[in-house]
Order: sequence, then C-alpha cells, then structure tokens
Amino acid sequence: MINSSLKQLSQMLAKKEISSVELTQTFLSRINQFNPSINAFITLDEAKTLTQAKAADVRIAAGKAEALTGIPFAQKDIFCAKGWQTTCGSKMLANFIAPYDAHVISQFDAAGAVNLGKTNMDEFAMGSSNETSYFGGVKNPWDFERVPGGSSGGSAAAVAARLCAAATGTDTGGSIRQPASLCGFTGLKPTYGLVSRYGMIAFASSLDQAGPMAKSAEDCSMMLNVMAGFDERDSTSLNRPKEDYTRGLVSMQGDKPLKGLRIGLPKEYFAEGLDAGVAKVVQDAIAEYKKLGAEIIDISLPNSKLSIPVYYVLAPAEASSNLSRYDGVRYGHRAEKYTDLMDMYCKSRAEGFGAEVKRRILIGTYVLSAGYYDAYYLKAQQIRRLIADDFVQAFKKCDIIMGPTAPSTAFKAGEKADDPVAMYLQDVYTIATNLAGLPGMSIPAGFSNGLPVGLQLMGNYFDEARMLDIAHAYQQVTDWHVRMPELKIPEVAA
Ligand code: GLN
Repeated sequence: MINSSLKQLSQMLAKKEISSVELTQTFLSRINQFNPSINAFITLDEAKTLTQAKAADVRIAAGKAEALTGIPFAQKDIFCAKGWQTTCGSKMLANFIAPYDAHVISQFDAAGAVNLGKTNMDEFAMGSSNETSYFGGVKNPWDFERVPGGSSGGSAAAVAARLCAAATGTDTGGSIRQPASLCGFTGLKPTYGLVSRYGMIAFASSLDQAGPMAKSAEDCSMMLNVMAGFDERDSTSLNRPKEDYTRGLVSMQGDKPLKGLRIGLPKEYFAEGLDAGVAKVVQDAIAEYKKLGAEIIDISLPNSKLSIPVYYVLAPAEASSNLSRYDGVRYGHRAEKYTDLMDMYCKSRAEGFGAEVKRRILIGTYVLSAGYYDAYYLKAQQIRRLIADDFVQAFKKCDIIMGPTAPSTAFKAGEKADDPVAMYLQDVYTIATNLAGLPGMSIPAGFSNGLPVGLQLMGNYFDEARMLDIAHAYQQVTDWHVRMPELKIPEVAA
C-alpha cells in the first residue's frame, strides 16, 4: 500500500477496501518509526491529521469524493497552514502559528486531502542539502550518511521513504527537481504563475513556484490538477482556463508511441562538471526515449552557463527585500534583551537568521545599493532575458529539452557545507528554467553506485500536460520510479 500510486489509493478508498483513517494511520506509524532517524518532518499533529481523515471518510461515504479525497500528503513547511506551526526551517519563525491557509493548502483541503505534517527544509528555502535548516539536517533514505538535496529535503525524504503518499515542494532554483534526482522520485516545477504563491513564504518572488513531489508523473498530474489555477490574491497568478493534466497519460499505443517527438539535448548540459555515472544513466534514458520513437536533436543554450551568477545576484536581491519583514515586531523571533528599537531589530535578526540567510541578505542589499545597482542587479536582469531567449530559440527546433537534473548523486552530509560555491553548483542545470519561468521535471532514470539519478525534462510555457505525458511514457516501460530504498534504522535501546 505504501508504494501504491495515487490512482490506486483513490480506487481503494472509493471501493471502501480501506478507510482514510486506516491509510493515514499506516503513514503515521511509518513516520513514528522512521522520522526520528530521518528528520523529514518539523511538525506533526496527529489529532489534526486524523480529524481530516475522519472528515474524508464521511465525504467518501456521502459519495462526494474527488480524486485526492482521503489521501495523506506531506506539506513543505514553507506553506502557511492555519493553526499549524509554520517555520520555513528558521529559528525566526520557530514560534509562528499561521493564522491563515496558503492557496496550495486550501486547494488540498478543498479536495479532501489529509495533511500529514509539515516537512523540513533549508532555512527560507536557501540551500541544496537541507543542512541550513534550524531544525537539523535530513537523511537521504537511500544512504543515511548522505543529504536528500534541498531545499525541499524533508518532502523529498518523506516521499522516498514512503512516509506519505506524496508531498509538496517549492522550486526557486531547483528545490523540487534536485532533491527528486538525489532521492529517486518524480518532481515537477510548473510554469511561473501556474500555482498561486499566496501564503507561500517568499524567498525570491520572481522565481518561486510550488509543485508536486511524488512517485510518478501520473501522481504529479493528479496533484497539479489540485494545485494549479488562478488566484486573485497572487498578482503573478495567471488567469487561464483550468486544465486536466491527466488527459494525455493514456497515449501509449503501438511500439513507437513517441514518434514525431523532437527531444533537444543542450550541449552545455553534457560538458565538464557532470559526473560520469550520472551522464551514463542520462544517456541510457535518452536511448530509451529513442526506442519509443523520439528523435534526438542537438541544441545549444549558450547563455545557460551564466545562470548561476545571475541567480546569485537576483535571488539574494529579492530575498533581502522579502526578509526585511522579519523585524521582531509583528511576528517571529524577538530578542529578549535590547536597549532601544534599533537594537531590538538588530538583535532579533542576528539571533533569528542562520549564516546562509545572512549571507544572502548581505549580497542582496549590496547588489541593490545605489552605487552597484547598474553593475550587478541591472546587468543580471539583462542576462536573465538572454537566458530566456535561448529557450525561445531552442523550442523552435525541439518540443522538449532533456538532460541531467543535478551534476552528481547525493553527496555526504557536511561535504559541501563550508563551500557555498560548490553547493550553489548543484543547481547548475535547473536554475535556467526558473530564470526563464519555464516548467521543468525530474524523473528517476536509474542508479549510479547505488544512488538514484534523475533525468530532467524542460518544456515550453504551459506545456506541463505534454511533459507529464512524455514522462509517463518512460515510466510505462521502466520501473525506476517504483524502486524503494531499504530503510535501515539504527537499533534504539528499549
Ligand atoms: N539551491 C538554490 C538556493 O540555494 C535553490 C533553492 C530553491 O530552489 N529554493 O537558492
């Protein structure tokens, strides 16, 4: 049951083979068993969770169930959920109880889904290993000595360890896809504006997007059906007609179901810096796509090499502005001892933020300062346009772009913790799509030295349905996405 798809779970619930309370309890008991060693969750509240499960059972009995009714999901702790502690992985918000629901949370609630708990994450979603969390690192379920990736590390570990049916995440530069690659599951970052950011704690507002983290493309499509949609409370939410993202998933017919599909391989994504084991898995996956009938086309994204430097000007600039709201006055951490108002601001911020967040605030205020604005911020915005234009050109030649998601498999905890640049390079293949606002996905494509490797798919604007269909086709002929780690928890003395 823990490895069942969302569709299977939905059918079991509909046929009353299992109740939502039983299903929820199954996951809660796994969480009780494994979370003490994995640390995927920051907040659990069994009473709240089971109240939702009971309500879902009533709804199912009344014949009013939707596809996700009664299914338990883990929610990244970046989403405000009314009455739940909502920390964003920071000491700054360790005492914050959200007074309202984020759009994403209210969409899951309206669908009758069950909230299993709030998952661990890098502080304010800044990181690629979950090591910047105030609540401690998260173990990669495939190897407890290794990181799960980040910033959505808790959701990633929870999905990989089957502590939930699926989870939500957010992706500003790669935080859904890189952990999906490192933990071996399917993650999707939608087109910017497709999922409302209302109530999602802001990091870099022009890049942040929420998306599903699940076992398969099919599961992601069912979640996206619930998450996507116009919301007037987010001024960047796109007002488009609702789509059914599951609509194309049945197209596997004949032995060349992807005939006519043009897959672009950017040469920059297969150059220096890519681990040989990862490259091999990605090449094998592309060979599989060829077998399915796709045509492979060499393309170039010449400005993509600038995406890391551009991102590390723009994201900190936006973060420094977004994080100015944490002043110890209205909510969040306030220093106990201070002399006057300015001292209270300074001490509260000095105590509440961790080192990586402070680094970003310093960089951000620097690049926005009057004397340097033109040289850094403005220049970065101009290059951002060039990076987006590369994709416009590329999509004239191909329908979808593929490559590695991350340059390596999961690395050891502590290995990159003292080297910010090495850590930043984890997102070398994912950040360009955030800068361009394009959708991207990572799907499990195999293993290198026993560790999962993801294949990245990058689509054109609003091409989520087709991207999911293409991912689904691969998942019909491979079984990487249903592989589960064998969890070995350390013996605990009774
Ligand atoms: N790793 C990147 C960073 O540290 C991206 C994080 C994210 O997508 N939230 O900013």
